[in-house]
Parts: sequence; C-alpha cells; structure tokens
Amino acid sequence: MSRGLAGIKTIDEIELKNKNVFIRVDFNVPMEQGKITDDQRIRAALPTIQHALTAGAKVILASHLGRPKEGESRKKYSLLPVGQRLAELMNVEVIMVDDLEKNHPKTLLENLRPNQIILLENLRFDRAEEENGVELARKWAQFSEVYVNDAFGASHRAHASIVALPSLVPVKAMGFLVKKEIAMLEKLLERPEKPYCAILGGSKVSDKIGVIENLIDLVDCFIIGGAMAYTFLKVQGVEVGGSLVEQNKLSFAREMLGRLDARKKKILLPVDHVIAPSIEGLNQVQVTDGASIPTGWMGFDIGPKSQKLFSQEISHCKTIFWNGPMGVFEQKPFSQGTFAIAKALAELSGVTTIIGGGDSAAAAKESGFAERMTHISTGGGASLEYLQGDPLPGVEALRVKARLT
Ligand code: AMP
Repeated sequence: MSRGLAGIKTIDEIELKNKNVFIRVDFNVPMEQGKITDDQRIRAALPTIQHALTAGAKVILASHLGRPKEGESRKKYSLLPVGQRLAELMNVEVIMVDDLEKNHPKTLLENLRPNQIILLENLRFDRAEEENGVELARKWAQFSEVYVNDAFGASHRAHASIVALPSLVPVKAMGFLVKKEIAMLEKLLERPEKPYCAILGGSKVSDKIGVIENLIDLVDCFIIGGAMAYTFLKVQGVEVGGSLVEQNKLSFAREMLGRLDARKKKILLPVDHVIAPSIEGLNQVQVTDGASIPTGWMGFDIGPKSQKLFSQEISHCKTIFWNGPMGVFEQKPFSQGTFAIAKALAELSGVTTIIGGGDSAAAAKESGFAERMTHISTGGGASLEYLQGDPLPGVEALRVKARLT
C-alpha cells in the first residue's frame, strides 16, 4: 500500500483557471462567546486559498466547526465569525452560503468576481456530513470541478466532505497544509535522524497505545509524563497515591516496559512530582522529594528533578516528537513541567522537533516557544492516527483512482 505523498497531486500541479474549486479546510477554531481565540487554523489554510485565487479559480470553502447537537443554537456554531476573519486576513469579500437549496452556489459561481470567495456554513449542521452521506456529497459535486483537501485536522474522519466528495469530483488534490503536515510526520517514520525520542503525556495511556506500538522500533527513548506516567510507575511498584491510574492498562504498561528493556531502549518516567490533595487544592501544592506519592495526594505535574532529567535527555536528541502535556498545564501551579519541556525543545538547534497538535500545541504557544519548533501540527487526532500507522481516510481518498458515479 502507498504511504506518504506518493500518487497524490498538490494544488499547484493542476489547472485551476476559471474552475470551480471546492476546498475543504479546517476552520474548526476555538471560540469564546462568538469570538475566535486562536486563528492559527485559518492562517494555516491561507497559502492554498491564495494560490487558488491567484491561479484564477472560483473558490468555495467548506469546514466544520465544533460538534453542534440536534436542537442546539445554530448561531453558536456558525462560521460567520470565521468568514469575517478570513475577509480581513485576505482582503476579500466572503459570501456565506447557508442553505444550498435556496442559495445555490452554481448561480453565485457564474457571477463570482476575483476578489470574492464562497464559504459554506458549518458542514455539521447537516447530519449527513458525519455519516459520509453520498447524497449530500452529490449536491456539492454538482458545482465543483476540482476538489482540494487542505483540512489536515479532519482528514482522519470518514465524513462526506472528506471521503464521499472526492470520489465524485473528476480532479482532486491536496492543499499545501496537508502536504506539509504529511511530509513532517513522514520525517518521524522514514529514517528519522538518531537519537530519536518520543515525549508522551496527557491524561490517558489508552489514547497513546497505538503510537507507542508503532514507534517502539523506531525511537531510542520514550519520555512519559502527565497522568499517563502513573500507570507505568505503578507497574514498577512505585506508590502513586490517588493519582490517575488506568487499571485496565497496567498489563499493557508492564508488557511495554519488558519490550523496551529487551530492545535496550530507554523509558524515562518522572522522578518527582508536583502534588495536591485534589485538583481544587491549589493552596496546598507540594513537591515530592522522590518518585513516590503519599496516600491522599495526587500528582498533577512533573517536579523540578524530572524537568532536569527530561531536558538533559532531550538535549542529546536529533529527532523529537511530542504529544501530551506533562501535567495539568491549564492550572498555573501545574504548568511548569510542560513549559520546561517546551523550553528544552526551543533551546535545540539543527534538531527536528515536531509537536502533535492539541494540548501540547496550545502549551507550546502559551510557553512563548512555539516559533522555535520545526513543526506544530494543526491536527492532534489526525497526527496521532498517522503516527500509529493508520491510513488517513481523507488522504487515501485523494490517492484513490476509482470514481463513484
Ligand atoms: P490528552 O488529551 O490525553 O493529551 O490529555 C490532555 C489533558 O491531560 C490536559 O487537559 C491535562 O490537564 C491532563 N493531564 C495532564 N497531566 C495530568 C495529571 N497528572 N492528572 C490529571 N490530568 C492530567
């Protein structure tokens, strides 16, 4: 089976002049009270949109936003604020299309001026999007001559705009963002420069099992922090107090430690912790001396000795993948471990440092070191699935030759 970018065209390899080009983007931006709090995902799609406009295409953009449920306010999940931000960033007029029946883009497209873009309203307002509905995709296919996927963060979903639609449109390609994301992740899978370390954190071992399994033969070292670490520490017989432990993942953790040992690979676990009686006990925060956590206390971050240990290991590496915070970084007393990792990565030079989106991307940004990373993925879920060796449906749909009729 093909992997990587083989057999997939990029948007700059296809004829776009006067063509109706449907670009699936990932404008699923964080919002608070109708205001965008981080427009990174919009900015990340701009090179592709700009290229299409410059090449003379008539551009239709489509994205989902959040997870609107039946009966919830449409306003809360409207892409209108995104359209407004896009108009500012690109200096174009963005025409929102809410109802495909009433406001059919075909007519709009015939009269579209070069400085105008069509933006379809939140795709998830129609249930058929998440059900990969072919009938919905057919409606879009009626006015689309070219399909471009630049929605890396949604490419692990078999949804109508990601999978059904490209099988109905004659010409398809990836955008520059998807190309960059895949090329970066391939650096972690194809002959990565050694030493190679994967730093994993976050709340659950279960979410990272696939990645651990797939990377075990590639990496030289795993650094494990966050709540994940307590399941591994418990297996080693360390007292973890009331910290989060996944009971049903203890045997996986035990087996993994054995496999790493047999391969003479390193696994670094925290040697001290920032603890509190509960997540609300912010005025009772303490730092442990060693790896064990007393009864009645919970670990919420790695301690200073662990920060030093992890940072020293990081300083020897040539390739690093990081996914998942070292602690509950959203709360100030528990953010230092995660920020220390971001700092250790930022201090490297000539090293490939790739952050797998989601919380670690947010933490890198908050730490002020985001600019120093080789790449921060716009898709947490998609990058994890790619690294665990699963084909991404949205990428495979661009490779597929067969068409539905
Ligand atoms: P994930 O989505 O699996 O990457 O997990 C991210 C979440 O893990 C963040 O919201 C953190 O607050 C949480 N987290 C990290 N460390 C801990 C910990 N020691 N105890 C509880 N939650 C944690």
